[in-house]
Amino acid sequence: MEILVFDIGGTAIKYGLIGDDFEILESKEMPTADEGKAANAETVLKNLTKVMTEYKGRFDAIGISTAGQVDFEKGYIVYGTDNIPGFSDTDMRGIFEGEFGVPVAVDNDVNCAALGEAHFGAGKGFDYFLCLTYGTGVGGAIYLNRDIFRGAKSASGEFGHMITHAGGALCTCGRKGCYEAYASCRALTDRVSEHFGRYVSGREIFEPKNLEDPFIKQALGDWEDEIVNGLISLSYIFNPPLIVLGGGIMSENLLVNHIREKLISRVGVNYQCVKIEKACLKNKAGMLGAAYIARQRLESLK
Ligand SMILES: [Zn+2]
Repeated sequence: MEILVFDIGGTAIKYGLIGDDFEILESKEMPTADEGKAANAETVLKNLTKVMTEYKGRFDAIGISTAGQVDFEKGYIVYGTDNIPGFSDTDMRGIFEGEFGVPVAVDNDVNCAALGEAHFGAGKGFDYFLCLTYGTGVGGAIYLNRDIFRGAKSASGEFGHMITHAGGALCTCGRKGCYEAYASCRALTDRVSEHFGRYVSGREIFEPKNLEDPFIKQALGDWEDEIVNGLISLSYIFNPPLIVLGGGIMSENLLVNHIREKLISRVGVNYQCVKIEKACLKNKAGMLGAAYIARQRLESLK
């Protein structure tokens, strides 16, 4: 039983074939947009169809992980990412089940990544944990009783839009003072870039010589505090045994160590058992999570 999976991001679409034991048999990548053009829903659907046609006969189900807000029950994209105009209100399941005659499951990228980590990565063996990803924004997923807790409209776990600074900085969602306006990787790179008058990436900030710079030291310390403040609130709500941190910037061990130390020293005794781990499947988590939901749908239809 092989599963064709896609992990749709703003700049690239990863895809591949996943085998019986969730082994990755093939893994490839294509740009989200056609060369020289901006991405849009039409192009994405066309490119997905092309890959599915190419692999026709070799898969029993399709799993799709995508940025944006997804109605998991219906396999429907409610609100697509700003990077892919026209992607909102797309009936992914309807389109592809109709065309290829196999079960199709769709979920958002952080839920898929959390499922990947739950079964094959940092969350293995845990019945529940939280997963947060730090990038342009802050994404979240709640893994509860060995499944994703999705809420009434599959929109739970949006930790990036918890209000941590009432009346504060404007967020991409239109409200003010959201966690992600302060704790995303972008919040850090924006502050540092503004100071130096040029774009400074997260990777550059963590270069050893830059870590000695007084401004960077201050900005980094403040940013870690922002991250930790959100995690303190979540610790008191969920009392989680594990928090998995994802996003490229979390490959920095120094950062993860600081977050762990700060969090544990600032929460009450009942919350100090929390393990802080970085996501370990890297860019494979989304594809494995997508394979997992596709397998679930396949089993449920038997
Ligand atoms: Zn917001």
